Amino acid sequence: MKVYKFGGASINSVDRIKNVANIINEHKSEKLLVIISAMGKTTNALEAVVNAYFEGRKEDALQLFEQIKESHLNTLKFVTTLQWNAATIQMKDFFTEIEWLLHDKPVRHYDYYYDQVVCCGELFSTAIVAWHLKEIGIDAAWVDVRDIVRTDNNFRDAGVDWAFTENAIQQQIKPLFNKHDVVITQGFIGATDENESTTLGREGSDYSGAIFANLLPAKSVSIWKDVDAVMNADPKQFADAVNIHELSYAEVIEMAYYGAQVIHPKTIKPLQNKGIPLYVKSFINPVLPGTVISNTHVKGLPPIIVIKEKQVLMQFKSKDFSFVEDKPVEQLHHIFKEIKVKPNLSQNTAISLLCCFDEHAEKTDRLASEASEIFDVIVEKDLTLLTIRYYDEATIEKLTTEKTVVLTQQTPVTVQMLMK
Ligand code: ASP
Ligand code: MG
Repeated sequence: MKVYKFGGASINSVDRIKNVANIINEHKSEKLLVIISAMGKTTNALEAVVNAYFEGRKEDALQLFEQIKESHLNTLKFVTTLQWNAATIQMKDFFTEIEWLLHDKPVRHYDYYYDQVVCCGELFSTAIVAWHLKEIGIDAAWVDVRDIVRTDNNFRDAGVDWAFTENAIQQQIKPLFNKHDVVITQGFIGATDENESTTLGREGSDYSGAIFANLLPAKSVSIWKDVDAVMNADPKQFADAVNIHELSYAEVIEMAYYGAQVIHPKTIKPLQNKGIPLYVKSFINPVLPGTVISNTHVKGLPPIIVIKEKQVLMQFKSKDFSFVEDKPVEQLHHIFKEIKVKPNLSQNTAISLLCCFDEHAEKTDRLASEASEIFDVIVEKDLTLLTIRYYDEATIEKLTTEKTVVLTQQTPVTVQMLMK
């Protein structure tokens, strides 16, 4: 049994849906648990629906939702014929559920509504792919993952109830493979014990794949993407970026930690714990080898470069020249937690603490103002954080010319530079 995960870009057009169906068809004898994200930019579009709804702009919300409905029905029309009728009935049931909600006035908090609305992107996309498979003669079982992945009610960042989920997978998913080669379900979403929909955090479908792989357990997980393999840098920023065909779990966790947009950071642990290899494959060129991520220690990696723009450096300086000791730093970390900010880099000096954050004006302004009760706060905006793993002088030189470095942190493996 293998887990295949397809992201939004792999199904963002009729041709691409057919392409995904081909990939599934070619490998179905392996028994596939297929996890799919919402089509293209649907999740963003649904976020706009929730925002309009929550701000009391009901008509806007309904109008925006109408566009999402239309585009899905339109796609469905091109990938089904015989199945079109039954498929449309299922889609309309999903629509009605959301529209009922949009007609009510919000009485609970934003995150709750976010999850009730945004979760439908994955329901739509998986239904469309499953009906298309049926159309071409593959009898895939479609499962509403909200009956399987149980979570707490920390909406938008829900925590998984592993024991319940494991039991549901053993009782409800495994038997499906007696009759079907392919089981299709949604990434990113789950449900509470009160049947409220939840989501696992943006880009969380990779993580869903890892949850299923761990609990089935699966022989491997393949994440199908629009890149040939994991690369040492973002090819949009670096024309000379190169493919890396083999990586260790540890390396990928580090890369994700420093901000590389490779794989959702939570994905690795469930796989590492069971020694399940993770393949990153190209859905455009499935014959390419892609990248395999496993326990093997990989030597001789090229410099791995991660760039984070829009960084803010905050210097928290003790007001009376006393050392920055435990107590004030503790207070500061308490504020970080409260505002939900995490430094991307931090450094101590005798009388000050330097931290660099992603620039979210609302959060960083609040942070500066709250921290100024304990410290003198100096803020510097519009910075870039460069991280290089396996750095060499030439790479550092190349990436820092004509830049002013305001902060450097270096270990034998990794150098980070905050630059203007
Ligand atoms: N559709 C969700 C998102 O866009 C989950 C995912 O793609 O992994 O964040
Ligand atoms: Mg996605």
